[in-house]
Amino acid sequence: MSLNCIRIPHKKNTENCETIRYTVPKTVSIPMCQHMGAPCEPLVSVGDEVKVGQKIGDSEAFMSTPVHSSVSGKVIEIENILFANGRECKSVKIECDGKQTVSEDVKPPVITDKDSFIKAIRESGCCGLGGAGFPTHIKLNFDENKTPVDSLVINAAECEPYITSDYREMMENPEDIINGIKTIQSILKIEKVYICIEGNKPKAIDLLSNMTSQDNSIKVVNLSCSYPQGAEKVIAYNATGRTVREGELPLNQGIIVINVSTVAFLNRYFKTGMPLTWRRITIDGDAVKSPCNVKVPIGTSIAELLKFAECDESKVKKVLTGGLMMGMCVYDLNTPVVKTNNAVLALKKDKKSPQTNCIRCGRCINACPAGLMPTELEKAYNQKDADRLKSLRVNLCMNCGSCSYVCPAKRNLAETNQLAKLFVSEKG
Ligand code: SF4
Ligand code: SF4
Repeated sequence: MSLNCIRIPHKKNTENCETIRYTVPKTVSIPMCQHMGAPCEPLVSVGDEVKVGQKIGDSEAFMSTPVHSSVSGKVIEIENILFANGRECKSVKIECDGKQTVSEDVKPPVITDKDSFIKAIRESGCCGLGGAGFPTHIKLNFDENKTPVDSLVINAAECEPYITSDYREMMENPEDIINGIKTIQSILKIEKVYICIEGNKPKAIDLLSNMTSQDNSIKVVNLSCSYPQGAEKVIAYNATGRTVREGELPLNQGIIVINVSTVAFLNRYFKTGMPLTWRRITIDGDAVKSPCNVKVPIGTSIAELLKFAECDESKVKKVLTGGLMMGMCVYDLNTPVVKTNNAVLALKKDKKSPQTNCIRCGRCINACPAGLMPTELEKAYNQKDADRLKSLRVNLCMNCGSCSYVCPAKRNLAETNQLAKLFVSEKG
C-alpha cells in the first residue's frame, strides 16, 4: 500500500542562503494566539518595560502555551489583530529600545524527570514550528501505560515549494537537532528515531547520516520527492509503514511526529533557557529581488521583511505566509510574523486560469493522499448536503491542495473542502 502523492516544482532558490540576522525593528506586535488552542491573556500593560525572553502572555487553559517578548523596550499598545484565517486576538505592541536586554528570568531549565521536562517545554512557549502550532508539551506528554510510543518521527520533509527554513536549520545547526532528539528519546524512552528528509536535500541527508552512523536507534530516511510528504499521516506511514486510521492520531500507532526545527529549538532552550522569540523565515517569490533566509524577532511586520528582501511592492499581487500549496494569503502587510511562520512569499500573479466544468477525469481522486473524492465533496457542498459530506469523510481532508493543483478545470477543490468542513462542524 502507498499513499497518493503528486510531483510539484521545488523552487528551493534559497537553499544555499545562510541565515541572516534581521536588525531589531522599531516596533513589534506580538499576538496572544500563535498556537493551536486557547489564546493567552496579556501579562503586561501599556507603559511597562519588557525584556527579551520575558513572559508577556499566558493562559490557564489546558490547550495553550505562553508567549514571550522577542525584544526589549516599552509596551505602547494592546491592540486587536485579525488574521487571514478570521481569528482575532489581542496583540502586545512594543516600541523596541534596540538594546535587546535579556530578561533575568531566562535561565536553563532544571530537568530531572518527565514532569520537569514537560513543564520546561510548556514554559518555553514551544509549539509545532512546521505550521500546525500544536503545543509541544501536550504532544510529548503521553501516558506510556495507555499509549506506548516506540517511534519518534522527525519531520524534515519540507515538501512545499520555495521554503528552505528547515533545510537551513539542518545545515547550520545539526548538533542542536541530534542533541534535541537524544534528550527527547532518553526522557520519553523512545526506542527508534526516523529523521525523514526529502531526497532533494542530499547534503542534509549525508550530514545527518554521518552524525548518526554510530547510533543504531536513529535512522535517516530518504523520502521520495513528492507532495505532501510532510503531512503527518503520510510521513508517519512512509517512516514506519503504519497507517494512522480515520479518527486516530499518530500516537495511537505508537508514533510521535515532530518538526525538525522544533527539535533544534528545544535543544537550544534546554541549553540557554531562552524561550521561543524568533523564527527563521524564507523570503522568496517572483516579486522578490533578493530571496533569503532571515532570523526574525517574532512580531516583526511582513511589510518590513518584504522591504528587506527588496520586494517591488508595485508588482506584488499576492503575499502568502507559508508555501504555495498550503500558505495563507496575507490581507494586511502589517500582519506580524508568528511562531508558526516559516516563509513569506510575494508573487506577481494572483489569479489562475478561469474555472471550467468538471470533465470527470478523476485526477483529483488519484492525487488525494487521504483517499477522498474531491469532485464528489464539491458537489455535496454545493448541495449543502451535510450527511453526504460526512459519509464522504470530508473531515479527513488535510487541506494539502493537491486536488486543486492537478485539476485541469482549475476548480477550487481544496478551498471548497475547507468551507465544507466548517459547514459540517456548524451543522453538528
Ligand atoms: S486538499 Fe483534501 S481533498 Fe484535496 S487532495 Fe488534499 S486531502 Fe485530498
Ligand atoms: S480533477 Fe477537476 S476536472 Fe478532473 S474530476 Fe476532479 S474536479 Fe473534475
